Amino acid sequence: VAQTSNGTAVLFPSGATAGVSVLLAHRPVRGPEGEALTALVVRETPFHPVDHRWPDQPGDTGTATLGGLSLPIADCVIGMRRAGSEEISLAGEIVVRRDEPGWDGLVAHLVAGDVDRILEAHLGAPVRLRVDAERRRRLSAAHTVCHLSGLALDRALTGLWRKDVPVNVLGDRAFEDLALESSAVGIAGFRDEYRIGTSLRRKGFAAAALRERATGLSLLVTAQVRAWLGTRAAVRLEADGPLLTDRRTWVCALPEGEARVPCGGTHPRSLAEIEYARVDLRLSEDGTRLTAVGVVRPAPPGPCPLPHARTEDPDHDAEHAEHADTSAVPY
Ligand SMILES: [Zn+2]
Repeated sequence: VAQTSNGTAVLFPSGATAGVSVLLAHRPVRGPEGEALTALVVRETPFHPVDHRWPDQPGDTGTATLGGLSLPIADCVIGMRRAGSEEISLAGEIVVRRDEPGWDGLVAHLVAGDVDRILEAHLGAPVRLRVDAERRRRLSAAHTVCHLSGLALDRALTGLWRKDVPVNVLGDRAFEDLALESSAVGIAGFRDEYRIGTSLRRKGFAAAALRERATGLSLLVTAQVRAWLGTRAAVRLEADGPLLTDRRTWVCALPEGEARVPCGGTHPRSLAEIEYARVDLRLSEDGTRLTAVGVVRPAPPGPCPLPHARTEDPDHDAEHAEHADTSAVPY
């Protein structure tokens, strides 16, 4: 706890979408099509970066304002920097683990164009950060339903195991842990790909029985997810610390028990913030791939509890962020 780190502190686990920080570093970057971008690093940020090694939730978009300049943030990625060094590796360039001792984990905000020279004059200056809150709200809702869908699928398939395999936190055999190959969260839902290969069969999964039950699976999983949404259970992110690289866990107080899933993404504070969810499960012709496609819609945003709330007030978001219940993340 007493260890000093120059890694980025993250505010997104508390649900914050705005904040004020200080510009610490910047560097030019090439985008996927070779276009010029500039990466900004600040002391603490509400922006959620995509994790290039498990890119389930995309990076936040929004704006950074400093010295009268308003810079659109087009994407957000992870950076790593050896302590004491100024050289920052970004996303795919990173060769160390995220928790590598002696390295700082950074949130790199990507701005279109080469503004590296311009930023040089603003090092140490205050930066106002604002995430596209509506996009974040949709991603958060989809991500929480993605977790619920995995738990509901474990439950629906728990009788299809012929051998003992580890169970999930709700006591169902952990199909998701053993079979999930990729997960993608978007503003309208999610897509999870499961592989039903030889190793899963060898562990005792009755793949042939899945074929017989595949037609009813969507209804079963959707019904379970909707039943859980109906409980309006509280959702929180537990964090080992304030830094990007600290471990975080999604915790949802379901009637069956407290569901816990390790997670680097963002989430609503309650299942009541999700208005609609449907999960379609499709088994491939050859029976080796199961795809879960979720359609998710968040509930309309509730009225702001702050007395000064006025949507046209440009400082509202930032003040809201300051009022955000950061105590919800116990360090
Ligand atoms: Zn997650």
